[in-house]
Amino acid sequence: MNAVPVPAINAQRLLTDITHLAQIGAGPDGSIHRIAGNKADWAGRDWIDKTMRVEGLYSYYDETGNVFARRQATSGPWLLIGSHADTVPGGGHLDGAYGVIAAMEVLRTLHETDHPVADHVETVAWFDEDGVTPTSNGGLVGSTALTQHPHLDELVGYLELHVEQGPRMEASGLELSPVTGIVGVRRYTLTVRGQENHAGTTPFSLRADAGRVASRTAASLRDICTEVDPLSIGNVGVIEFGPGAANVVPGSARAEIEIRAGQEAALDDIEAELHESVARIAEEESCTASLNRTSAKPAAQFDKRVVDLVEGVCRDRTKACEPLLSYAGHDASVISTKLPTAMLFVPSTGGYSHSNREHTPEEHLILGTQALLESVIRATGMLMDSKDTSLILAA
Ligand SMILES: [Zn+2]
Repeated sequence: MNAVPVPAINAQRLLTDITHLAQIGAGPDGSIHRIAGNKADWAGRDWIDKTMRVEGLYSYYDETGNVFARRQATSGPWLLIGSHADTVPGGGHLDGAYGVIAAMEVLRTLHETDHPVADHVETVAWFDEDGVTPTSNGGLVGSTALTQHPHLDELVGYLELHVEQGPRMEASGLELSPVTGIVGVRRYTLTVRGQENHAGTTPFSLRADAGRVASRTAASLRDICTEVDPLSIGNVGVIEFGPGAANVVPGSARAEIEIRAGQEAALDDIEAELHESVARIAEEESCTASLNRTSAKPAAQFDKRVVDLVEGVCRDRTKACEPLLSYAGHDASVISTKLPTAMLFVPSTGGYSHSNREHTPEEHLILGTQALLESVIRATGMLMDSKDTSLILAA
C-alpha cells in the first residue's frame, strides 16, 4: 500500500483556506468569535461542509454538530483526522482551525491523486472543544459525543494537528513535535482556620496566622512539582485572607491550587506531597487546614505505535523535531481513550494563543500539513493491517 509515491499538499490552497476561515467570525482587531453554537460558528461549519462538497466529497453533520467528510460511496473503516472549528471569545485564527483545514487539505490531496488510502480517511471539525458557553460543561463536547456514537466502531484511529499554543517549540528551534500525551489537571481548594488578632500587639511567635499557611503552601508548590516530576507544573491562581485588613492577623484563608502532569502517578505523588506540606505548615503556624480536590481531568497517553510513527515522519522531514507533552487540553485526549491516537504540533510564534496574536510561520503550517499527510498514509496502512486494535500507551 505504501509503495505509491507520497503526494505533495497544495500549500497555496492550505494558506488561502486558513485565511478564508479566519474571516468568519472575525472582530475588527482580527480576533475570532466563533463561539460554539453562535452564528459565526455555524457559518464556519457551513463553509467547511460546502468546501468539501465542492470537491466532490461526501460531507455530513452528526447530531452534535460535528462536520465529517470522506470520499463518496466508501464503506470504511476510516482513520479520522481533524480538530475543532469553534474558538474562545476573541480567539486566534489557528487554534483548532489549522488542524481542521490541514485535515481537509490532506483528504483533498489524497482524493485528487487517487491515493490508495483515500477511501479510508475521514475528516472532522469538532463541535465545542473550547467549552466557554454555560451549557457546554467544560468543552470537548463533539469528541465526547463520538465516544458514545456507533460511528466510533467504524474508525481505526485519530490524528490531530494543532499549533503548540505555548513557547517551548520556538524557544528550542523546533519545527515539528509529535505529542506523547496530554497532561491531567487537578484542582484543589485549600481552607485554613487560624485566629484573628491585633497585628501590632501579637508577637510573631504567638500568632495563628492563616494567611501564612496559604502563602507558604503557595510558595512550596513549585518545589513540590519540580521534585516529583520536572515536567509537571502548578499554579495558585486565587488566594484570599479573612477578614482582610492590614492591621488584623488573618484568621482565615482560602486558596485555589491547580496541578498538571503527564502521568496519573505523578499527579498522585504531587497531591500526596501537597497534603503533607499543608499539614506540616498548618501545625507550624498553629492553624488547622484542609485541602479538598474539586476537579480532576485524567492525563491522556497516546498510542505508542502511532506516536512513534508520527515521530518517524517528523524526523524524516526535519532535524528540528522533539516529542512534547501537551499542557493544553484537546479533543485527542477524549478520543485517545477509545482509539489509537496521536497529535502533531507546529510552533506558535511568541507562544501566543487564544488571542489575535496567534501566529505560525507559513513554512511551518505547510510542513505540519505535509507531515500530517505522510502520517495519515503510514498510520492508515499500520492500523488497517493491524489485527490488534488494543491501545498501546506511550511510556
Ligand atoms: Zn485547540
